[in-house]
Amino acid sequence: MAHFIKEVDIDQYTYNIEWSKELNMHISTCGEFPLLKSEGSSPEIALSKIKKLIAETVEWIVDKKQQLPEPLYLKQFHKKTNDIFEAEDKDVLTGLYNRNYCQKVFKEHAETGTPFVFIYFDLDGFKMINDALNHETGDEILQVLSNSLRDMLEDEVYLFRVGGDEFACIVSEKISTISAEECIDKLLAVCNERFYLETVFVDITISIGVVHYPKNIADVKNVFKVAEFVMQEAKNNYKNSVCFFEEELKNKLEAKVLMESNLASALRKNELFLVYQPIIQPDIEDSISFEALLRWNSEDLGFVSPAEFIPEAEDTGQIYTIGFFVMDKAMEQLAKLEKKSDKEINVSINISTLQLKEDDFIETVQQLIDKHEVSPESIIFEFTESIFIENNESMKKTIENIRNLGINIAIDDFGTGYSAFTYLKNLNIDALKIDKTFIDELGKSSWVDALVEAIINIGHTLGMKIIAEGIETEEQLNILKAWQCDGIQGYYYSKPLPEDELDKYL
Ligand code: C2E
Ligand code: CA
Ligand code: CA
Repeated sequence: MAHFIKEVDIDQYTYNIEWSKELNMHISTCGEFPLLKSEGSSPEIALSKIKKLIAETVEWIVDKKQQLPEPLYLKQFHKKTNDIFEAEDKDVLTGLYNRNYCQKVFKEHAETGTPFVFIYFDLDGFKMINDALNHETGDEILQVLSNSLRDMLEDEVYLFRVGGDEFACIVSEKISTISAEECIDKLLAVCNERFYLETVFVDITISIGVVHYPKNIADVKNVFKVAEFVMQEAKNNYKNSVCFFEEELKNKLEAKVLMESNLASALRKNELFLVYQPIIQPDIEDSISFEALLRWNSEDLGFVSPAEFIPEAEDTGQIYTIGFFVMDKAMEQLAKLEKKSDKEINVSINISTLQLKEDDFIETVQQLIDKHEVSPESIIFEFTESIFIENNESMKKTIENIRNLGINIAIDDFGTGYSAFTYLKNLNIDALKIDKTFIDELGKSSWVDALVEAIINIGHTLGMKIIAEGIETEEQLNILKAWQCDGIQGYYYSKPLPEDELDKYL
């Protein structure tokens, strides 16, 4: 596999240092010296990096020189210098090239105007595999897969592990004798094999996004971003398959970019606001809480659904400021409602899993509670089941801390994702919200009926409240009432309302 190798005049910055001879020897034997170019950084930084690497090499020399006979020493020395200089480009787990190196290959191709095809792929449902088995097994799968990929493709294409379960190939005239199509066929053949590990076997499927440079993307800096988008399309639409960057996708991407740029100014332009949907206790026909739902009335795009722009905000990181805005406004509104009414008022707030990863999330929430002088017991945070996928200790700690603040926790869209009652047991959950897709089937599918009734019963046994979402008909209401569902949310009672229309529920 080709490296970026350039000759450098080591003496320039190693003069006077005894071991420059050793390094020069390495250069003269290899004829070349691998020079790490620091992406976009100044020559000074590049130089300081090289110096650091040289220092590591010298350490090795000092350590080994006395211990080994000359020929063996030289052989090992060459290997070691190569290893040290390559470490920055390699993924430790799999030994494939990493994302960093991928960027270098892009840049090299751009500089020489050489076209290439970027093939980006990841494993479907890998998180689930990782969690259902364990992380060691997950790592093993990645390693076994990487070895197979290497056996099949290493001589033909550049191979990378660019992230957790994300891999990539570059098919380039420079080194490839196969076409992109042949490469994809080989990828599918390798990945669709059954993988036998020590104790289990695993069937893997992959989703592939394909981007041509410069045919599809003129600026090499955008290749990754576009490829991620194309791969996501493959994942969303046609599991276990390949998606190419074609006209239709181009338009979709343009719309996405347009939305992102508009969203960036939405808060400043006061285009975001909250509406509140009452959640009704069916036997008394009165509200038990209000769910705060975000609305965006964009100057350029009109009304955009949160189902569209929230994922976008999560992709771009805007969810942090938007999420803060939502908590701030919802608590402000809660304070207002508490003043207006003698009744106990509760407000539900949707929280993106990403927000939980912020170091100061708990602190921020506490500050907002203090600022608006609201009682935390009146606040419900709604999370989706993805918090279970992030099955790590810091996430559990954060959720515990939220509960310690006095805030209640509800699981949103229950039943659509990763639901398992065992997870609920580990994380003190106060309420489950049964997803609308189940409610839609109530009274039509005996299977769904049984499931919903069971969720309500088990939830109650575990001490949780059950809320059903998206109730539109009296029939649905009556079924849920009979099963003692605690809360009903849906157009049957009310659509989400602007804050000045909530009075009738106070
Ligand atoms: P969600 O949390 O499951 O919210 C319920 C969605 O169902 C809301 O859509 C609500 O308007 C809609 N809905 C309620 N009752 C009915 C019904 O009877 N029929 C029908 N057809 N729909 C009903 P909305 O407001 O468009 O929100 C969509 C999703 O966007 C939300 O789903 C939530 O995941 C996300 N979202 C909304 N606001 C926020 C927010 O402030 N923060 C975060 N992180 N996500 C939000
Ligand atoms: Ca919700
Ligand atoms: Ca929901």
